[in-house]
Amino acid sequence: MKTHRIVADLLFTNEGPPLRGAAVDVDENGMVLAISGEATPGVNDLRVTVASPGFVNAHCHLELSHLKGRIADDARGMAHFIANMMAFRQVHIPQAANESCMTEADGFMWQEGVVAVGDVSNTRASLPVKSASLIRYHTFVEVMGLSAEHAAAILNAGVELCKEFEAVLGPGRASVTPHAVYSVSRELMKRIFSDHPGHLPLSIHMQESSDELDYCRNKSGPLADLFKRNKVSDSDFLPYGNEYPLLSLLKALPPSGRLQAVHNTFTTVDQLKKAVDSFRALFFCMCPSANMFITGRLPDVPGLVSAGARLTVGTDSLASNDRLSMVKELTLLQEHFSSVPTESLVRWATLHGAQFLGLESEFGSVKPGKTPGFVVLENMNPDNPRFHPEVRAKRISLN
Ligand SMILES: [Zn+2]
Repeated sequence: MKTHRIVADLLFTNEGPPLRGAAVDVDENGMVLAISGEATPGVNDLRVTVASPGFVNAHCHLELSHLKGRIADDARGMAHFIANMMAFRQVHIPQAANESCMTEADGFMWQEGVVAVGDVSNTRASLPVKSASLIRYHTFVEVMGLSAEHAAAILNAGVELCKEFEAVLGPGRASVTPHAVYSVSRELMKRIFSDHPGHLPLSIHMQESSDELDYCRNKSGPLADLFKRNKVSDSDFLPYGNEYPLLSLLKALPPSGRLQAVHNTFTTVDQLKKAVDSFRALFFCMCPSANMFITGRLPDVPGLVSAGARLTVGTDSLASNDRLSMVKELTLLQEHFSSVPTESLVRWATLHGAQFLGLESEFGSVKPGKTPGFVVLENMNPDNPRFHPEVRAKRISLN
């Protein structure tokens, strides 16, 4: 069997501190055979400066790829963003046109070294692209609805869509998930959780905007106005008062469940700490570009870390981001939170995402037996590794 040797000046492994002058032997399928320090140079070595395991994009909406550049990044809040999205959803996009946008976005992620994606879908539109992709997708079939009366029918439609994805992509590659606390009635939330297979991940948008906080607290603010304007009946929505909604959701989850709260832009450290202390398999996803786009504010990343949160990184969709680039997200995080070590950022964007999706036996770290994929971080200084706007990620091709 043909083997390859990757030699890096600096290698992030997630199995200990980054290694200097490391050599990794992999087989033709990309499986790690051995890792060694200070290797003797060979003529066929793939020599790179800084390398990491393949990325796991923990939060994306591939099916919104045709909205790239359509909505202004004016940071006017969630109700304003949703109103824009609703307007664009009225415009019919031919499936072929949307498919070509999704294929391009999927290809971009592959070239950048993404090996797996947690992707939110409301329709089957992304199924052909996912089935042809080299990236491993877990599809979160997202449901929403504020009417308790329609909860059973909404969940059934979600379950059926899930089956469609699983029939093509394989069992366990899709799960029904709630959109957000402010868009899901308690009845629907209860049904989603009781119906959910405990071994699969769940993902929910959480405290993304102050509009969401107002609505969840006492049904006030721009989201309440938006629902009124659009004649969305929300009489079944029970506000959460001063309770952190995530804590309420966790009470309904089996201890074996895994849940990712996405955004957390307006989450306080005290709230989060209570959730972390009460539930083991919690992940908190950072999508900083989308946060700047929609609210102009970022989560308290150092605070979340100090509270013990396990962080993941996602790009969100091309409706609120100009590219699905994990390196762009990591650069934004390091520019705003310079105290966060590069090693941590890499771990969030690789190993933690793999753990959340249940793929850590294959992806997320450089370890014999795993097939993590390899990324070269071009223009990163191996002697002072930092993300900055010139850093580019490229998949290391073993062919
Ligand atoms: Zn999202």
